[in-house]
Amino acid sequence: MKLHWVVLSLLISCWITPILADDWESKRMEMVRQDLAGRDIRDFEVLRVMGTVPRHLFVPKDLQSIAYADRPLPIGEGQTISQPYIVALMTQLLKIKPGMKVLEIGTGSGYQAAVLAALDATVYSIEIREKLASRVKRFFQKNNIAVMVKNADGYHGWKEHAPFDRIIITAAANHIPRPLLNQLKPGGKLIVPLGSTRFYQTLTLVHMDAQRKASVEYHGSVRFVPMVGKAQN
Ligand code: SAH
Repeated sequence: MKLHWVVLSLLISCWITPILADDWESKRMEMVRQDLAGRDIRDFEVLRVMGTVPRHLFVPKDLQSIAYADRPLPIGEGQTISQPYIVALMTQLLKIKPGMKVLEIGTGSGYQAAVLAALDATVYSIEIREKLASRVKRFFQKNNIAVMVKNADGYHGWKEHAPFDRIIITAAANHIPRPLLNQLKPGGKLIVPLGSTRFYQTLTLVHMDAQRKASVEYHGSVRFVPMVGKAQN
């Protein structure tokens, strides 16, 4: 008789737990386990924040059910939110420390910026498309996400807040905009998908040493939407 109760209560808890648990949270944890920790994302803080930022809120409603799949998704205006693994990889390569000043070019959905802010960086982000910029500004305000957004061509950087410890370009560029290199602190890092803006790019990490001498490291092939504006002229 007692055994029956044990079996019954075990069965009930198996049925009830998934209903009570936040479904989004379990999907997010699965993403972190399988697509990030299961590959080469080793930075504990990056794994931790990717497990907390609610990616499903950054994608259109009709795509929320696949928000935690490891793939880019359309966000309107012909643009995309990057796949979680690439967001994690770029963030890991930047070695973000709390309090660092970070500039992002290409706010898009705001997801990458929110991940950086969750690491306690001070984040400035520039978005060239007016519609996306105003939508993400409202979204950040509503969700209390502390990221400063400007609607402009990120090619020129953000002089008023320069220099930056880190710069992340989340659109494909065929060269690194000189103003962005100039706005990077000595000892700073910049990451950019560099190469063809129509096909594939190489994830390129630039390290600026104390003498302002730049060195580069390559981290595999990626595919981003093109950086537009002056970068293409
Ligand atoms: N980081 C985004 C993904 C962005 S997709 C996210 O997490 O969702 C690339 C974005 O870069 C698009 O929104 C596009 O409009 C923007 N973009 C392209 N060229 C730009 C430029 N010159 N300056 C600023 N933003 C640019």
